[in-house]
Formats: sequence, structure tokens, C-alpha cells
Amino acid sequence: MQDLLIKNGKVLIYQDEDMIIEEKDILVQNGKIAKIEKDIEPYENIMMPEKNSTPKLKEMSIQIQKNIKDEIKIIDATNHIIMPGLINTHAHIPMSIFRETTEGCKLYEWLQDKIWPIEAKLNEEDIYWASMLSYVEMIATGTTCVNDHYFMTESIRKATKDAGVRTVLTRVLMDTDGKDAGKQRINEFQELYETREKDNDLITYTVSPHSLYTCSDDCLQEAVKLAKLYELPVHVHFLESIDEIQDIQKQHGKPAIEVLKQYFEGIHTILAHGVKLMNKEVETLKAMDCGIAHNPVSNLRLGCKIANTTKYLQNGINVAIGTDGQGSGSNLDMFEAMRIACLIQGGIHENEERINAKDGIKMATINGAKLLGLDDKIGSIEIGKDADIILVNIEEKLDNITMLPNLNLIANLVYNTTGKNVDTTIVKGNILMENRKIKHIDVGKVIEKCKEIVNRLY
Ligand SMILES: [Zn+2]
Repeated sequence: MQDLLIKNGKVLIYQDEDMIIEEKDILVQNGKIAKIEKDIEPYENIMMPEKNSTPKLKEMSIQIQKNIKDEIKIIDATNHIIMPGLINTHAHIPMSIFRETTEGCKLYEWLQDKIWPIEAKLNEEDIYWASMLSYVEMIATGTTCVNDHYFMTESIRKATKDAGVRTVLTRVLMDTDGKDAGKQRINEFQELYETREKDNDLITYTVSPHSLYTCSDDCLQEAVKLAKLYELPVHVHFLESIDEIQDIQKQHGKPAIEVLKQYFEGIHTILAHGVKLMNKEVETLKAMDCGIAHNPVSNLRLGCKIANTTKYLQNGINVAIGTDGQGSGSNLDMFEAMRIACLIQGGIHENEERINAKDGIKMATINGAKLLGLDDKIGSIEIGKDADIILVNIEEKLDNITMLPNLNLIANLVYNTTGKNVDTTIVKGNILMENRKIKHIDVGKVIEKCKEIVNRLY
């Protein structure tokens, strides 16, 4: 793997609980951040040939310099913010082909009338290409890690490897449509997990019941067993909409929070949404090993109201950001999700302290890493962590007109930046996009294939 030296950029660094932006260079060796300093020289240890060296020595010295130059790539980050790659903690990767099918629908209507009938017609190849379309979108908008929640995962896994984006995979479990179907899904998850490549640390796994209302007690019990057996986190939709509250009560004979506690206490649990948390639920979650994947765009789009993330964070509950699938979340642009996550808190906290831009950035980076159990590797620019890094263009030019005159870089990242301002996306030292060019994926072919799928399905 080629080493990288990212020079002349403004680096977003976490300092204790705060964050700062400083002009520094970053050296990436073997996919990891090796140095963050001012003026790192790429060839500092190379002996230059002296004037009176023999021709042979001169030639050797030139050859050594050439070899080192081949091994290190220099990226000029002048007029760029260098920040940790964004971490999308809740998505349904193949749902690119459901983009904008939700107009005017409530959650249940949309799932039952528009999503589930079409999902039943999807084949493995559809899932692969639909996933590739999402991966292109992620790379192009600065997402370097995603937490998936879907099925036909073998095809998603193939796309994950081709795309190079760090991914948490699963095979979603549910059984309210039949016990046999439920067992089949559990078998598929086990098969998926047992056939993982153990040396590929860009792919990790969760055990993922769809929700408490689509899983019987038996199904949740099985999920707990698998999570304990494989020592994996759980990823589940939880209290996304008002209808769910009654359905969980009907399915399990007790309130949602009690079902959650009964099964998942002691297991690290990623709760997608958590819109409907009252004080009592917040108190219970505080004592559990869990956090919220907050999906502001999807929640607003489906009329699920606004999660009080300010309150959750004030109570010490980890909150990260997700986009949900494009069906309800519109797109995978984590900058948009971050901006809306911050803005909507003003709609429920009148004249009160609420989350700010720095909280938004943390939610989209380090909090996400913690939620996925990956904070020893990603989520911040720190020596020893993997180089999951993006470069955001802040040059004073027409494309960046909404940022100018660049008075507050951190606030600009949240309120005036979109994924389209990301020039370069790097995962574990691999450049997936440079100067907005993606070379390892045939983007035209991906778009064409997805058009064919959509023409067949709709
Ligand atoms: Zn979801």
C-alpha cells in the first residue's frame, strides 16, 4: 500500500472535549495515521549525493529517492479542511433504488404498500448494483463508514469489497410473517458470519432484529443468543413512530422499553431512531450499554416527529447520526443529516441550550465510531488510528459561495457544506475519490444497471 503525505491542509483535531482546526500535515503509513505535524518532509532521511561523490554513489542515491517517491503519494490539501470521514450509523444500503418513493406516506403505509412488495422481487444482482449506487453516493459525499441493516447480504458484501467503504454488515431478522421464515433468516445470518474473511477488518458485523414489533419473543431470544455467541453488537429499529408503541405492547405484552431491557441489557445495542423516548425511557437507557442512531431527515420525511437528541446527550446517552435508506432519508449525504440534526433542535428547544455545530460534527464522527464499537480505529484524526479521512474544499470560489468569507470553519462544516464540497475520500489509507474522481468503480455502468432494475420493477 502506498503511503500518503497530506500537506498544507487545515486539520480538524479533537482536544479533550473540544475541537480545533490547525494547519498541519498528516503522514499515513500502512493505512494508519503516523504523524500529525507542521511541515513534514517526505524525504527527510534520504542522503543527498554530495558534489564530489562517485557516479556510482550518485546513481544509487537517485535510485533510492525514486523508490521512496514511488512509495509515498503527496496530496496537496491547500484550501481544504482535513477531517475524519463521516460515519453513517443507520442505513439500508441497497435502498438507493427506492429513492423518493415515500412522498405523502406514513411509515407503515410506505413499508406495506411500496417497499415490501417490491423488495420481494429483488434478486442478488439487483442488490449488488443498488448497493454500488449507494457506495458511489457515500464516497462522493464523504462517508467512510456505514452501518447496514438489510438482507441478501452476500451481494452487499461483494459490493462492499468492490467499493472499499468500511461497512458493518448484518442479515436482518424478523419472524412475525412466519416462524419458518424467521428460522431461515437466522440461518442466513449465521452462514454470512461464518463465511466472513477474518483478516478483512474493513467489514464487521452486528446481529440485527428488524424491530421489536416484527420479532416474536423467540426471535429476540435467538438474536440475543447469536450476539452473545459471536460477541457482536445488536442493531435494531427502536421507537421510530407512534404506531410502534402499541404494536410492541400487543406483540410482547409489555412496553417497548421493558422488552428492550429484558432482552438486550448487557449487550452493546445500536438503537435506530429512538424518536419517542420519554423521561422514563431515557432513565432506563442511561443504565444500558446502548446509543442512538439518529436519522433526522427520515424522521421528518415520514412525519415521525423529532428526537430530543439534546436531552439524550445531556443525559449521557451516546447519539450518532444516520441517514436511513434513501427511500425515507432521501440521500446518504451525511453533511445534510448533520445540518438538519442540529437545526431541528431549535424547533423543540425554545430559548434553551441545545446541541451546536461541534456536537453535530462529533455525532457524525467520533460518536458514530463509539456507537459501532470502532472508536479505537476511526472517528478522529489521531496518531495510530486508521486513515479514514476526507478533504473538504473551502477555496474562495463560486462553488463554495455559501461558506464565504469563511469566518467560522466549524460552523461552516455543519451549516454551509454539502457532500459535494468533499474533494477526496480516503479509507484506511486507500484513496477512493481524489479531486472528485472515482477511479476504481465504473460509475457510468452502475448508473446504467440501476436504471435497468428500476425500469423492470416499477
Ligand atoms: Zn431504518
